[in-house]
Amino acid sequence: MIGIALPTIKPQKIKLLEKLGIRTVRDLLYYFPSRYIELGAVKPIADLILGESASVIAEVVHVKAEKTWKSRMNIAQATLKDADASIQAVWFNQPYLASMLKPGTRILVSGKISLRKNKNEKYFANPTWELVGDSEADAHQLKTSTVLPVYSETYGMSSLWLRWQIRRLLSARGGSASGGEKTPDIPETLPEHILKTYNLPVLRRALVAMHTPRTLQEIEAAKKRFSFEEIFCIQLHQQQIRKKTELVPSVAIQPRPDIIAEFTNTLPYALTGAQKRVISQILADFKKPYPMGRLLEGDVGSGKTIVATAVSLNAVTEKAQAAFMAPTEILARQHFHEFIRRLEPFRVNIALLTSGTVEKFPSKISYKKTADISRTQLLKELAAGDVHILIGTHSLINASVKFKKLALVIIDEQHRFGKEQRLKLAKEKEEVTEVPALSFGIPKNFKKNFHTASPHLLSMTATPIPRTLALTIYGNLDLSVLDEMPPGRKKVITRIVPSRERRETHEFIRGQLAAGRQAFVICPRIEKSDDTAYKNPQTALLFSDMKAVKEEYKKLSEEVFPDARIGMLHGKMKPEEKEGAMKKFKEGAIDILVSTSVVEVGVDVPNATIMMIEGGERYGLSQLHQFRGRVGRGEHQSYCLIFTESRSETVRERLKALESAKNGFELAEYDLMFRGPGELTGARQWGMSDVGMEALKNIKLVEFARTEAAALIAKDPQLAEWPALSDRVERLAKKIHFE
Ligand code: ADP
Ligand code: MG
Repeated sequence: MIGIALPTIKPQKIKLLEKLGIRTVRDLLYYFPSRYIELGAVKPIADLILGESASVIAEVVHVKAEKTWKSRMNIAQATLKDADASIQAVWFNQPYLASMLKPGTRILVSGKISLRKNKNEKYFANPTWELVGDSEADAHQLKTSTVLPVYSETYGMSSLWLRWQIRRLLSARGGSASGGEKTPDIPETLPEHILKTYNLPVLRRALVAMHTPRTLQEIEAAKKRFSFEEIFCIQLHQQQIRKKTELVPSVAIQPRPDIIAEFTNTLPYALTGAQKRVISQILADFKKPYPMGRLLEGDVGSGKTIVATAVSLNAVTEKAQAAFMAPTEILARQHFHEFIRRLEPFRVNIALLTSGTVEKFPSKISYKKTADISRTQLLKELAAGDVHILIGTHSLINASVKFKKLALVIIDEQHRFGKEQRLKLAKEKEEVTEVPALSFGIPKNFKKNFHTASPHLLSMTATPIPRTLALTIYGNLDLSVLDEMPPGRKKVITRIVPSRERRETHEFIRGQLAAGRQAFVICPRIEKSDDTAYKNPQTALLFSDMKAVKEEYKKLSEEVFPDARIGMLHGKMKPEEKEGAMKKFKEGAIDILVSTSVVEVGVDVPNATIMMIEGGERYGLSQLHQFRGRVGRGEHQSYCLIFTESRSETVRERLKALESAKNGFELAEYDLMFRGPGELTGARQWGMSDVGMEALKNIKLVEFARTEAAALIAKDPQLAEWPALSDRVERLAKKIHFE
């Protein structure tokens, strides 16, 4: 089997491999090149032409590092030679290169051929380079193919070494490395009918193509296979979870459409069609004997809270309890007050539990009476079942919090829970076996509350994600979408503002402030960095015109709006400081809040009418849309003003989509297509591979994977007949943190 430990590799190297998450032969074979260099453009040095981009394979003859006398810049310089000519390569601010490039090594250098004015000779300016060895692997590769695979390196382990090791493994395991057939050593993971239907290469051939490709086309076919494989395995895992979940009894909640109707009658507005639909989907889930696992996606302002309120009310009718967890204290308080207000006509006890700074006691409403009670008292009432709905931050998952009969868990803005908590949630999933509902992301400490039955879970998010990603990452959940905004809302007027109109824009904002409104200003960075911090002069240049919060704060408060009260918010502030700034803004004690992208999702500041964004081109459209959602939440006409430093036509075109798109989901699809899966909010931190994420562009592929996975799991839930596949599913499940 290829699940075995790595053979004949030095222990130090094994340690390094482990850092990359590579423990077995299979892992190493699945460690794909991060890019490929086309060898087609490789030329003899003698043929290089000034101004072109070209590659040469040459030997390093001489290396030196020096500091330029004038600019004190570090320069590494190498003399390279091939059969009959030589050339210099020069790297700026990468002095360490001098120690990496040893005379006598052979390298492949790619870059632009520039002219050294003072010496009137051609040279490579800041080229990329790659070690190529004299090993059998590279020699063969360079002779027989048009592409050279390049692996991402860690210290002490070069791409060259990886290339050599992987090649060795591939050729040791069954026949020639350049295209052998399936051998017992590398068992196929995918069922044959799937390979046939989707025209995918078999595993061995695909591995060979990824690591020792002869042509770019070969790589494409192989990538398609692995991207399908990854999505398919994720789906299998998700379907397995669903299957297990259906075996667990849930805390019964009797659906009460009568109570929901009574509730909606008390509201000052009518529910939207989408809200009604989602509520009835949830009520239908309550009826099932196993726990609900549902994700509610809805744009900012689509009215998720009232859905949560309605179904919580239904859940607690029969002496059961509901828990509502929000990512921050401000949000938890906001929800608490909203719940109190909306549920006033009903006899429901609601309490708030946050991490509880000393002076802020948890509050409780008891049939219209608000009271501050001690934490101990609150926990006692909760355990006795006297608190019906508990709202709070992640302090709800504290071990001391015990419910009497927890029937419903609602998590608001789940993606906003910190990475640590996310990881913690992910870890807890390993203990899932007894109570599979936990794998929905219900925190472990809720577990003690349902030894015999599991509560229902509703997870809410405003992150607009494309359908392919939703089906994959949340494949174990059922999906509800609030795709309709409450009526009568004024559309936020969005404008892409050219830099020359900055002054008019400031005047406009002044007018809004004078009318008593408030403004957000979003900047891409916290502070203007010391340009020398960037090794590469190009990077430094790139960052130099990026607006920074601290600088903008100073400028706005000293020069532009000296009379306004201005606050600041960024990720380097302590959580209390951040909450403090946000709170002041919400209370109207600050007129302008200058912030990085950390600005709170979900906080309602109806008086804010301006969202001004600097460096708009640096954000994905769906993120800009999220910023925009911070305004337009009150009665006043609101504006989203986006500045961009970019003069590129495509950038402006892309930003224009913000003016026309109907909702965040449309923009997320747009991001996916035009900027690639890496741009998707959160996609990286879920741990999917680049190859897997590519598949997200292909809805047909994702749906096919989902249908096939469901069919296979229905027949063989344990994948007993598919050991290689099952093995792969397990490995991937460990790597990827599902929601
Ligand atoms: P989100 O989905 O972003 O959490 P909220 O639940 O905070 O949105 O709702 C945004 C605002 O819309 C709230 O002030 C809420 O009272 C209001 N709202 C919700 N549903 C409706 C509706 N059907 N008609 C009118 N206003 C509504
Ligand atoms: Mg909300």
